[in-house]
Amino acid sequence: MASTTSRLAIAIAGAGIGGLSAGLCLARAGHRVEIFERAPALREIGAGLQITPNGAAVFERLGLGPALDKVAIRARAVRPTDGRSGRGIARFALDGGPYPYRFLHRAALIDLLADAARDAGARIVTGQAVRAARPETGDLIFETGEPTRHELILAADGLRSVLRPLITDEAARFTGQVAWRAVLNGVEAAPEARIWMLPGRHVVTYPLPGGRLNLVAVREQSGWAPEGWDHAEDPARLRAVFADAAPELRALLDRIEATRLWGLFRHEVPERWHVGRLALLGDAAHPTLPFLAQGANLAIEDGWVLARALEAAPDLDAALGLYAQRRGPRVRRAIAAAQANARNYHFSGVSRRIAHLALGAIDRVAPGRFTARMDWLHGHDVTRNWPAIARMTGHSSLE
Ligand SMILES: Cc1cc2nc3c(=O)[nH]c(=O)nc-3n(C[C@H](O)[C@H](O)[C@H](O)COP(=O)(O)OP(=O)(O)OC[C@H]3O[C@@H](n4cnc5c(N)ncnc54)[C@H](O)[C@@H]3O)c2cc1C
Repeated sequence: MASTTSRLAIAIAGAGIGGLSAGLCLARAGHRVEIFERAPALREIGAGLQITPNGAAVFERLGLGPALDKVAIRARAVRPTDGRSGRGIARFALDGGPYPYRFLHRAALIDLLADAARDAGARIVTGQAVRAARPETGDLIFETGEPTRHELILAADGLRSVLRPLITDEAARFTGQVAWRAVLNGVEAAPEARIWMLPGRHVVTYPLPGGRLNLVAVREQSGWAPEGWDHAEDPARLRAVFADAAPELRALLDRIEATRLWGLFRHEVPERWHVGRLALLGDAAHPTLPFLAQGANLAIEDGWVLARALEAAPDLDAALGLYAQRRGPRVRRAIAAAQANARNYHFSGVSRRIAHLALGAIDRVAPGRFTARMDWLHGHDVTRNWPAIARMTGHSSLE
């Protein structure tokens, strides 16, 4: 029995990592997919991205592992480091699991996903900003041009989604954290993520292909005054915030020529993820602090789960309900864990010494404990357990 949701006309608002990977999964599953992107061309901010094994599991099932390896570095370890002294506190392996942990540039991932989505039959329309939707009819309304009608609309238009208010009135709020991002050229570094921890602040560095180094610096801040969510920032200000950092870290900060500062915002994960023919995906549904490298990985998982839910459920409403039911608990747990890392990375005083000693002890006595503690996150494979459901429906075309 094929489900009634097997060949839908689907519109996706937003061609970010969430929209493109969902478009790929849905087109592979036989749906007619159109992706509408506001920007005049597909682009991502100039920064790196960590694709953790749970995101890699989806790409592996889509056959994209080898293509990813061409544009990524396989990570070997994460190294928590005392950001003041430069002393390594611990080294936890990242390369022991069934799927790789990778570092890559966002633009490379966007290109790869867009090509794969087009190859699967998806149409990507750039320069087409979505303004509104009618969930009951599936009409999508643009800033310019005629409305279009679809059987399903996905709001993958990010944290500032224009469509989310049709489902929830939860507004984004400032989290009390700001982040600077920069990419340094001509830096050869080991395939490791280093987390440089200082009181109230931290910096994450990891290598990118082509001898580049991605750098994200975060600090706690009581308010966010500027209009908008990010703005260009004088690197001297960033250097001043980390003036007490270890010489090795300051030497990296000294090399930054241009940086932007982001206010980190999020909203609660809504109870309902859909109304009528409109559903949320990625940051539009569940923005998270970036301290666990999960926002994009969770969005990638969303696309696979949604495609499978459409195969498994008897009608659209049931499928969208199943999708939210499968995703809700997992994204909430990941968001809470990222929030806890904000505290863990930013300890000061005695707590800081105790936390560093504890990390060092885990590394010496039970290095496998870190991997075991992360297994619920990195070891989770959303592509598992679905084949049985697909077999039950007699319909599985995703791979
Ligand atoms: C400092 C930092 C570091 C991070 N590092 C990682 C990491 O290592 N790993 C990880 O998994 N996550 C990371 N994240 C999180 C990750 O970047 C986001 O969770 C992810 O990009 C969300 O993808 P998305 O497609 O849902 O939304 P977005 O990336 O925001 O994409 C939304 C798309 O929709 C388009 N759009 C918006 N409005 C409209 C409209 N009205 N009409 C049409 N199109 C529209 C936008 O132009 C954009 O292309 C990090 C975040 C930050 C801030």
